[in-house]
This record gives sequence, C-alpha cells and structure tokens, in this order.
Amino acid sequence: MTKKNKNIREYPIVIANLKMNGLLRESMQNFKQLRSKINDSLLGCEIVMCPPYTLLRDFAEKVPGTGIKLGAQNCHDKADGAYTGSISARMIKDMTCEYVIVGHSERRTTRNEGSELICKKAEIAHTEKLNTIICIGETLYERENDLAKIVVREQVLHSIPKTSKAENTIIAYEPVWAIGTGKTPTLEQIEEMHKYISYVIKEEIKQFENEPRIVYGGSINSSNAKSILSAEHVDGLLVGKSSLDPDEFWKIIEAAG
Ligand code: PEP
Repeated sequence: MTKKNKNIREYPIVIANLKMNGLLRESMQNFKQLRSKINDSLLGCEIVMCPPYTLLRDFAEKVPGTGIKLGAQNCHDKADGAYTGSISARMIKDMTCEYVIVGHSERRTTRNEGSELICKKAEIAHTEKLNTIICIGETLYERENDLAKIVVREQVLHSIPKTSKAENTIIAYEPVWAIGTGKTPTLEQIEEMHKYISYVIKEEIKQFENEPRIVYGGSINSSNAKSILSAEHVDGLLVGKSSLDPDEFWKIIEAAG
C-alpha cells in the first residue's frame, strides 16, 4: 500500500458503527472482551467506536486508557432548543466524544436527510470541536445506471461544510448496496471511487490544505478487511455489523494494524 501523505493519513482508522444495537449489559461485556485484547497489543491504527446514544456515558467511562476514541452516530443541525427527542453536537461533546457520523445512508434514506442538512450538521459539529465522519455513496440503481460518480460528486460538493479540513473531517464512501448485504464492490471499483472523491475534493472544493482521510464502509468483515485496506486511497474502514462481535471486530483491527 502506498500511503503518500504523512500526518493525518499516516495510520488507518477503523470506525465501529454499532447502529441501533445493544443493551447495557451485553454491550459492556462485548466492550470488555475487545478491551482485553487491545491491552495486550500495540495499536497500529486509530479506533473509534460509535455506540447508540444510550450507551455513550458507559463507554465514556470505559474507554480512557484503551486508545479507543468515542463517537456518536448522528447529531442535530441546531445548537440547542425545542427539538424534542434530538441530541445536539454539544451534548455529544459533553459525553467526551471526539467524532460524530453524519449523513449515513440509513438516515439519508429512512429519515429523508439531504446533503444540505448533513452539511449543517457537520458544521455545527465542527463548531463544537467534533471530528465528522461524513458518509456518501450511491444506490444500486445509480451504480447500474452509470450515475454513481454523479451522485457521489453531488454529495461531496453539498455535504462538506466550509469548516471542514483534513484534521476534522473523514469522508466515508459507503455504497448503499453494500451496506448490510454481504456484497462488496471490487477493489478496482473501490479504488476508482476513492480516487474520484479525492479528485473532487482537491479540484472542486479546494479548501483543504491537506487531503482528508477517505474510508470505505459496506459489508466489511475479517476476511475482506486486509485486501480492502490495501487498495489505493483507502485510509480506513467504517464497520457496521462486524463491529457487534468483539472477536470479529478485533480481527479487523488486526488487519488494519
Ligand atoms: C454501515 O452501516 O456503516 C456499515 C458499513 O454497515 P455494514 O458493515 O453492516 O455493511
């Protein structure tokens, strides 16, 4: 793998998106299992865990000293106020999170979130000094109809706020058709899209002094993690289902390290 950029892209990053899974006892047992492995090893990658909001406080108590960083799965686009049921970026920061995911396709599709809203969420997250993981990716229909790059370009251009820089922003390329399906693009398809995203960021957004990390997400497991990480322009992984099993997630971390 050629990792040309030093600094922010030097180490791969592995992000766990636990989604709407996990009750307190089971989740903390799983975390304990993962943590016991990490204690024995030197980490060769950055690890971020994004549990549901309900578990953030408990994770926050357990992560110090493990090298694992904490993230949330979403935030509201407003600072505070009468938004019943919502969680602000400041509240997430208050839970000692360093990261927040915005624009996950499950929110784009099931909650109707568009790129302009994602952009506002990312901006307010940056105001609170959170790092954002901004998700983009095409549907199967869009890929099959040669629209993948057009859609991804639009998402890149409209989801990334002016406050973004390489140090506070990760772009997660997650083809919708690969999420939770067991299907993954070929390495060539991943490389081509990551290269294209990098091109759009550099040539059209122009605000980045250094290149932000671009991670891949969609049906990652311990068998495909290493080869996907070896692809050009892949700086890390966003892992859904496989992050729910501490042994499987550990194998993915090992593949990245
Ligand atoms: C995700 O939802 O971010 C994801 C990558 O899911 P999965 O790994 O389950 O495909």
